[in-house]
Amino acid sequence: MVDRLRKNATHRAWCHKNKEKVNSINDTWRKNNPDKVKAKDKRYRDTNQEKINSGMRERRKRLFQEILDHYGHACQVCGSTTNPCIDHIGGHLEGPKNGPSLWAWLKNGNFPPGFRTLCRDHNTLDGLIRADKYFGVKGLGISGIDSLVRIIELLKNK
Ligand SMILES: [Zn+2]
Repeated sequence: MVDRLRKNATHRAWCHKNKEKVNSINDTWRKNNPDKVKAKDKRYRDTNQEKINSGMRERRKRLFQEILDHYGHACQVCGSTTNPCIDHIGGHLEGPKNGPSLWAWLKNGNFPPGFRTLCRDHNTLDGLIRADKYFGVKGLGISGIDSLVRIIELLKNK
């Protein structure tokens, strides 16, 4: 037992000193054993699901904070900081529609203009009230919120 421990320690020290050699051996083994690698990866995923999920949740949370740091933490209509969302000003034109894929797209694109922070209520309202789409009224401005204000004015004058 003591002998085996000593052997392991010697082996570990050798590996530590020869990292490049070890990496190259491992790379070659992975290349030559794709089925074993696949099975091993699957075993890891199956036994570490919670660890993988919580890691992903943390990375998404950090990414969303970065996005809010750039576009603002408060809703640009009411100033609320509860349930912030990223809104495509003027409706969805490019990039992923929402969620982590949109956040990653924004970050990779170095925070393009045409996006803003809205609270969930105002984002929903903005999405629902698309003047061009639902009222057939053109030229009401690019935002659904702006359009809503304009529609209310138009209805008042009818
Ligand atoms: Zn709001």
